[in-house]
Amino acid sequence: MKTQKERRHLKNQLTKQFALYDGLVNKASEVLQQYTCSSECSALCCKLNPICFEQKEYYKILEAVDAGNKALIEERTIKLQSVQIFDAKEYGKEIVQLIEDNGPFKTFLAPCPLLNGSDKCSIYQNRPSVCRRYPFEFARFDLFKDFSESVFMLKACDIGIEVAFDYGCWQILSNSGDVSTTLHIVLEFFKGWAKYRTLKEMPTCAMVIDEPNTALEGLLEYIISNQIKIRLARRCALLRFVGQHLDKSPSEDEIAELLADIKKLQ
Ligand code: SF4
Ligand code: SF4
Repeated sequence: MKTQKERRHLKNQLTKQFALYDGLVNKASEVLQQYTCSSECSALCCKLNPICFEQKEYYKILEAVDAGNKALIEERTIKLQSVQIFDAKEYGKEIVQLIEDNGPFKTFLAPCPLLNGSDKCSIYQNRPSVCRRYPFEFARFDLFKDFSESVFMLKACDIGIEVAFDYGCWQILSNSGDVSTTLHIVLEFFKGWAKYRTLKEMPTCAMVIDEPNTALEGLLEYIISNQIKIRLARRCALLRFVGQHLDKSPSEDEIAELLADIKKLQ
């Protein structure tokens, strides 16, 4: 058993990590409220991905649904056995409870049984955080390491591609990072999305988002402060550029031309 000091230290660290995680989910969800799912998509995320619940939301959902859905949920979910719970045991019951309350707890087998016949979520207001932030994904951090080692990413579904193009335009306009790297990332993401659209399989392509807190705040600010028609025009300029460079790297002159095109769209 760990000492009291070690237990207190881990408890503080975990509490901080879970709060940061909840903050990111809320920000991601705020960004996603600015987008609408494509009518051509037919809720592929709900059909293809296994859905993970945290314990606290699982019971909240059970309370909110009718008897039929309650039975469906109980029948179709399986309990996850987190290896971190095993490691946490030497820190005592309080830490085990904290991880159980906040960590992945149950998973639905896909397709999600809560999707109704019109491809709408029957528990939309109470849907779990994994659904509220999709296509943003969070590679669950190792609870015993620093939060900064976690990976936040964007998956290549139909909303994902719109977000990625706005993200690319925002990065270019805000001079964050190297432009050719940004363009390369958007280009590869586009290729991944095109493959997913053809195969209609679970998207395997994902864009890693560095410094997610800053990125989500910047992206939200970009979306809110630019009219949709301006954002669409910039996305189109970027899409044209991507289309012309699927098989060949852009020259410096071509990149400069794109930058000028995007910047003049005000
Ligand atoms: S989040 Fe993506 S996969 Fe899910 S319904 Fe919307 S566009 Fe489709
Ligand atoms: S809970 Fe709702 S949003 Fe989440 S996967 Fe199921 S149907 Fe889709």
